[in-house]
Amino acid sequence: MQNELSIKSGSHFLFRNKVEGQIEVAEGKFLLTFEKQFELKAGHVVALTSGADIAPRIYSLCCGENEQYMQILYDLKPEGQLTPLLSTLKTGSYIYVSKPYGSFMPEKEMPMWWIATGTGIAPFRSMLQTGYKPQILLHGARVKDNFYFEREFKTALKAAYIQCYSGNEGVGDFFGRVSKYLEQKEQLPHDNKYYLCGRALMVVEVRDLLISKGIPYENIISEIFF
Ligand SMILES: Cc1cc2nc3c(=O)[nH]c(=O)nc-3n(C[C@H](O)[C@H](O)[C@H](O)COP(=O)(O)OP(=O)(O)OC[C@H]3O[C@@H](n4cnc5c(N)ncnc54)[C@H](O)[C@@H]3O)c2cc1C
Repeated sequence: MQNELSIKSGSHFLFRNKVEGQIEVAEGKFLLTFEKQFELKAGHVVALTSGADIAPRIYSLCCGENEQYMQILYDLKPEGQLTPLLSTLKTGSYIYVSKPYGSFMPEKEMPMWWIATGTGIAPFRSMLQTGYKPQILLHGARVKDNFYFEREFKTALKAAYIQCYSGNEGVGDFFGRVSKYLEQKEQLPHDNKYYLCGRALMVVEVRDLLISKGIPYENIISEIFF
């Protein structure tokens, strides 16, 4: 059902929105571009669905505050309810999207480390496009095509952009997972903020590691894609 101009689902109001384009950036990973109906802050998420018959899922926006369109980067879950439908959307299709919201937001003037795996890179692209820069960006992936937006990050961050590669093609800057990279670091700055984004396993493992290395809990900010 895509006739309604807005739908309500739980605590969310979602508004009909037009798809501006979609590309498969790597196998089973899609970058969906749609209308910008509301202002956003870097690090915000939206609730989104293809129609009133499917409960909305949450997605990190991966576009800057001043970009013309909104974008999300998502993983196709073949057995999932929503992403198989999203992956068939074409330019001009309708979706339903909430106002942007969230608390995974950068603090001005605060030195930051950004740590992501897979599509967890999305909010950091939003921050980068908005003008924020980290001391270090660690991006973990098992397939080299999953270092999304590689060129943008390399150009902007140079040696501060570190690809942690845990596959077997011999690419990346560091061989191993982001947790291994952090484990091998003798010292980590205690007064930086550490932003973690990705699947629960990585976020929990890295959070525990940072705490064991003396990073105060309040300096660790997490966004879990569950
Ligand atoms: C704050 C936040 C931000 C997020 N941002 C992103 C993002 O930027 N990009 C992104 O890709 N994802 C993101 N997610 C995850 C996203 O919200 C969805 O969970 C994801 O896209 C899967 O949606 P789906 O409807 O296709 O799968 P679902 O139908 O929700 O299923 C998810 C998985 O569970 C399995 N499953 C479903 N039902 C069962 C069952 N009964 N028993 C066992 N297994 C089952 C499915 O096979 C599938 O693999 C985020 C989540 C949160 C909370």
